[in-house]
Amino acid sequence: MIGVEEALNILEDNVTPLPGVQMDVDRAVGCVLAEDTYATCDIPPFNQSSMDGYAFAFNSRIKGEAMEVKGEVPAGDSGSIRAETGKAVRIFTGARVPEGTDTVVMQEKTRQQGDLLYIADEGLQPGGNVRQQGEEIRKGELALPAGTLLTPAGIGFLSGVGIREVNVHPRPSIAIIVTGNELQKPGEPLKPGQIYESNSFMLRAALSETGMHDVMVYTVEDNLEKLSATIHECLKVHHVILLTGGVSVGDYDFVVQAATRCGVTRKFHKLRQRPGKPLYFGTKEQQVIFGLPGNPSSVLTCYYEYVWMVLQRLSGTERELTRVRATLGTTVNKKNTLTQFLKGSYAGGQVIPLQGQESFRLRSFATANCLIRLGEEARMYEEGETVDVHLLPVYR
Ligand code: AMP
Ligand code: MG
Repeated sequence: MIGVEEALNILEDNVTPLPGVQMDVDRAVGCVLAEDTYATCDIPPFNQSSMDGYAFAFNSRIKGEAMEVKGEVPAGDSGSIRAETGKAVRIFTGARVPEGTDTVVMQEKTRQQGDLLYIADEGLQPGGNVRQQGEEIRKGELALPAGTLLTPAGIGFLSGVGIREVNVHPRPSIAIIVTGNELQKPGEPLKPGQIYESNSFMLRAALSETGMHDVMVYTVEDNLEKLSATIHECLKVHHVILLTGGVSVGDYDFVVQAATRCGVTRKFHKLRQRPGKPLYFGTKEQQVIFGLPGNPSSVLTCYYEYVWMVLQRLSGTERELTRVRATLGTTVNKKNTLTQFLKGSYAGGQVIPLQGQESFRLRSFATANCLIRLGEEARMYEEGETVDVHLLPVYR
């Protein structure tokens, strides 16, 4: 049995980002660039007015005298007219500043009478209210480097420099395999001895919360042959396999055996932690396989503490849950020598462990916003002590 830190190190050592793929830029939010991305044009592509107003050559203006207005350039106009010396051109925001002019005065600081323009803007400088061509970025210049997480602003920026496709680390394709003869679909009547299957719904929800939508759910009986066959098929199409249940030492627990049969190399099995002691992790080339416990609360704890980080790494980021230190709101008497993760409620620097921490319960988890991590040593954690808290991603 290994400790939590050792397990995390093993995950880090065994998971690398998936190779980059071409993707339409409008589908790539939340993805990470796999290569440096360059501008395909200058931005702005031309000297551009930043105001509705009048363009003129700054040096041609005689202070205090009216200028004649001749011509007009709305946004989108080719702006190919050439301003006559000493004359102003009516112009609008986003329009190309015409040849022969270099400065724009905003219309609020002018008065137009017929063709004559009176300017009252003492502070106006040469080049005022004009965005220079290439001021934001030049054609061929690095727009965003490899490793950048694409936010909505990033998508907008790349679109604005003319990019339609980006090379990004894809989000992994994920198989959820739920095992257990006792499992019934929610909505169907429960036969004696059955319980409702909830892990697949919970995991799918957790995955979609972090942008992972390429997910398939498979349900398998506790049968070594059938489980091996399902894992074998999943390894052909998915980057990640998340199994739940059947990972412990019971006579009907076949996950580890089946994974080994399918050529998966065991990297660890069983951790000094609660919940989630039987957690299994294996790899087959670039593919990763988690054998999560069956109890829902253990499943979700292991998901947030281990799987989440692995999915982030496969997708090209090194993000982890946000870790904070917080004051314990109530005393906790920790009796075992395992790292313990407690469902908690965190606010304003204080954290309260919730009632009902057993691993078959999800009720407390349903209202938790964090996990409190207590070290292996068995001891009393006093109210007011500072403890490690991992914020669940939904609250980031
Ligand atoms: P196991 O590790 O397979 O013995 O499962 C541990 C506990 O988790 C048992 O009480 C199972 O009934 C329960 N369990 C396993 N899989 C699921 C599931 N998909 N949804 C809800 N509970 C489950
Ligand atoms: Mg089972």
